Amino acid sequence: MSQFQQFLAALQAKYQPLATGQSASYIPELTKANPDWFAISVVTVDGQSYEVGDFEQTFTIQSISKVFVYGMVLEDHGREALLHKVGVEPTGDPFNSLIRLDEDSKRPDNPMINAGAIATTSLIKGADPTERLNRLMAMFRRYVGHEVFIDISTFMSERSTGHRNRAMAHLMLNFGMINGAIEEALDLYFQQCSLLVNCHDLALMAATLANRGVNPVTGEQAVNPEYIRDILSVMYTCGMYNFAGEWAYRVGIPAKSGVSGGILAVVPNQAGIAVFSPLLDKNGNSVRGLRVFEDLAQQYGFHLFDLS
Ligand code: GLU
Repeated sequence: MSQFQQFLAALQAKYQPLATGQSASYIPELTKANPDWFAISVVTVDGQSYEVGDFEQTFTIQSISKVFVYGMVLEDHGREALLHKVGVEPTGDPFNSLIRLDEDSKRPDNPMINAGAIATTSLIKGADPTERLNRLMAMFRRYVGHEVFIDISTFMSERSTGHRNRAMAHLMLNFGMINGAIEEALDLYFQQCSLLVNCHDLALMAATLANRGVNPVTGEQAVNPEYIRDILSVMYTCGMYNFAGEWAYRVGIPAKSGVSGGILAVVPNQAGIAVFSPLLDKNGNSVRGLRVFEDLAQQYGFHLFDLS
């Protein structure tokens, strides 16, 4: 076993007993998650994998999808046009906040909060909802290198209980921040959040970003390299809910977490790292995930501004 693999196994043993936090309950399907699930995956830019625990366990990607859809919409519209519609300013408010969706703000603050993500998804190009969904699925396929599926139960669960997201879309429609067909945009947003992945997939997706948009296993270009800078900047400032500033300070690499318990992080030009464990803290970040990343950052010194 390589030294790095041993380090990951030690991290798993260290944090498996840490059973604080709760799995998300506002999406009823997510309460079915097993609190013991725990996986760590690392994929390097030359395509090697190091992983421990339940790294083949599938779960819905949730908010982590926002990163990849942002990349796709950057490709569809270009940097300047998109910046006009969705900002890049961190909020410090909860991810599902309705604050600041008012007449004064011309656009949602950033694409990682729900409002900004719904507005971003509404901009995916395509002739009709099926074509837009097919383009979205094709985009995710390029990152994971295999067929992808949507968990229909989670999609239905979100669709029938997502009143807050629906309210957000209506507010944005009212203030002219988003156009027309909001039910279709919401469906597509709930579909992207219900995409099934495992921890290995997430690490490979992160490794693809680390590798200038080229999937290190398949060699396929998943996203135009011109937009990697935009994607990673927004992840760095807005990717970890209300912990984004502290994460940037402590761990120091671009990352995104989701309410199903995944965290994905990018070490530029080196590797993608993902942790999956459904128990969340009050900010919505995986409790075990945060601890693993703090230990990894300390051990391997990958904080971007660690120049020592
Ligand atoms: N589908 C979830 C929602 O819109 C995503 C939330 C998340 O992972 O932060 O509420």
